[in-house]
Formats: sequence, C-alpha cells, structure tokens
Amino acid sequence: MRGVVMYGPGDVRVQDRPDPTILKPTDAIIRLSATCICGSDLWPYRGADQLSDPSPMGHEYVGIVEEIGSAVTGIKPGQFVVGSFFASDNTCEICRAGYQSSCVHRVGIGAEGAQAQRMRVPLADGALVATPDLPDADLVPGFLAASDVLGTGWFAAVAAQAGSGKTVAVVGDGAVGLLGVLAAKQLGAERIIAMSRHQPRQQLAVEFGATDIVSERGDEGVDRIKDLTGGLGAHSVIEAVGTQESMMQAIRATRPGGHVGYVGVSHDVALPGEELFFSHVHLHGGPAPVRRFLPHLMDLIWNRDINPGRVFDLQLPLDQAPTGYRAMDQRQAIKVLLRP
Ligand SMILES: [Zn+2]
Repeated sequence: MRGVVMYGPGDVRVQDRPDPTILKPTDAIIRLSATCICGSDLWPYRGADQLSDPSPMGHEYVGIVEEIGSAVTGIKPGQFVVGSFFASDNTCEICRAGYQSSCVHRVGIGAEGAQAQRMRVPLADGALVATPDLPDADLVPGFLAASDVLGTGWFAAVAAQAGSGKTVAVVGDGAVGLLGVLAAKQLGAERIIAMSRHQPRQQLAVEFGATDIVSERGDEGVDRIKDLTGGLGAHSVIEAVGTQESMMQAIRATRPGGHVGYVGVSHDVALPGEELFFSHVHLHGGPAPVRRFLPHLMDLIWNRDINPGRVFDLQLPLDQAPTGYRAMDQRQAIKVLLRP
C-alpha cells in the first residue's frame, strides 16, 4: 500500500509500506476513506520535534472496516467507522470517567501512520464508533474532522466551560481553534471572540459562530479582549496553539474565576507560578479525550446540524501529501484532506 513517511524536517515522502495485518485479537484493519494532515504534524516538519528514524505519519482517520480480530464483537467488516489519535479500551476507570486519551491501555495511533491506504486500529471495540449506515460522500470530511480537530476543539470548549451566557475567547485560528468556535456556539455561548489576523480564517470563524474578531495578539490582544468584556476578561478561553505566548495570552485574557481549556500541544511552555496564583484562573486541558465526544459529534454530523468539514480548504490525492505539508506549513491552507 501507499503511505506517507517523514524522513526529517521538510522531507515528506509517499512510498510503498507493508500492508497492515491483525496483530492482536482486539485489532481491526480499516481501508481509509479519507485522512489528513494535522497542525501537530508541522512540529516535526519544522524541526521543532526531533525524529530519530523515518516515521509513518498521520493519526486522523475514517474508513471502512475490512477485517477484525477474533475478540472484536462491536465492530463489523463493511461498517464506516471513526476513531481518534489514541486507541482506548473505553472500559477502564479512566475511560469511564471520560478521559479515554489517558486510558490505562491506551495505544497511540501515530505509529501506525493514518496517512495511508490502510491501517491497523488497536482496541477496535473501544476505539471505533460506526455510523448507522454508509455516509454520503459529502459527509466524509465532517466525520474526518471529528477524528481529531472537532473532538479537540469540543474538548477545549468543554474544559473552558463554554456555555449559556458565557463570553468565550479563542486563541489560535487553525482548524482546532475554528472548531472551538463551532463548539462554543453549539454549547450555547452568548459571545464568541475569535483571535485571528487572516481574512479567510476570520470568515470561517464568523460562519462557525464568532461574534467578534480580534486581530491583535500578545498583550495587545489581551487588552482588546478586556475592552470587549468591560475590563474583566472572558469567562472561557480556548488555547489552541501551544506556545508560551499563546498560553499567557489565554491566561491573561481570562477573568478571575474563569476557565482556560488548553489543547495546543505544549512546546517549551513555562507558567509563572506567582502570576498564576494571583490570576484565579482554572486551567484544564491536554490531549483531548475525543472518544468521549464521538457519538454525539457523529450524530450532529449525520443529521447535518454542523458542518465541521468546512475546515478542509484543500483536498489532494495521498500521493501529493508533500504539497499538502508545504501548503499547511506556509499557511496557504487551513487543513489538507488526503484521498488514499
Ligand atoms: Zn481505558
């Protein structure tokens, strides 16, 4: 089969990789209907994360089940399924508490490499959620978004306690930040402030439910949020970048007693203890337990209540993945969908 392998910064190749096989009775093999490039794939692409060996890439996937291991009972060949970036048993105490991405048996999907024609999904019964029937083709990008960016944006909004009567600010205008806007809207937020300086992203933020756009960043961005909230700051702030600047922007834009939901993969962030102490801000985040939200999000997509697939503004055949990486790196595309 064909699959994407990263050899080092800026060096992404599409090559023949061995077809996956069932290794454990709890595995399933899926044929991917669509996959995509993640903002987090840009960390190694830009050299911010080191790769020791050539690495298969990709952790976002939807597809048709082709084969199941002998212990799989809840998923059948022929079903269209969505999974997320950590496979989980969905039965342990941590999973039942809604933190499947910290499942005691969790398996990272990244090593399997979802930017490929086929992949092995461990813990298939816990990890995969099937649609009621095969979806129409135009719904596939939405389900693919649910696999990571929608689930992550949704978790960020929940962690930030976005909801009725709240003012929500969103730091980061990548796919996760934009879908954090959509999530805040669905959760009933009254006012949603998207922080973005890129016109096409501002436009999509408004389409997803943003009521205000702030193009300043850093301390100036914080001042603008304060101006818009009577000097207090937002009740709920979504952080979807993962840098020192974005994290401090999120904390400082939050009012005392408010909540930050942080989902940008943290890179060299160091929080000043004294400032945090006096801020009275709640912090909650981490790798999103996407599996917690999948059934609800998949219902919303199936019923066409939301259209998160709008974040894919470039679709390419899998073989053109290097073009897709370049487009995302240079911010010419918000998110790139690959057709295997
Ligand atoms: Zn578990």
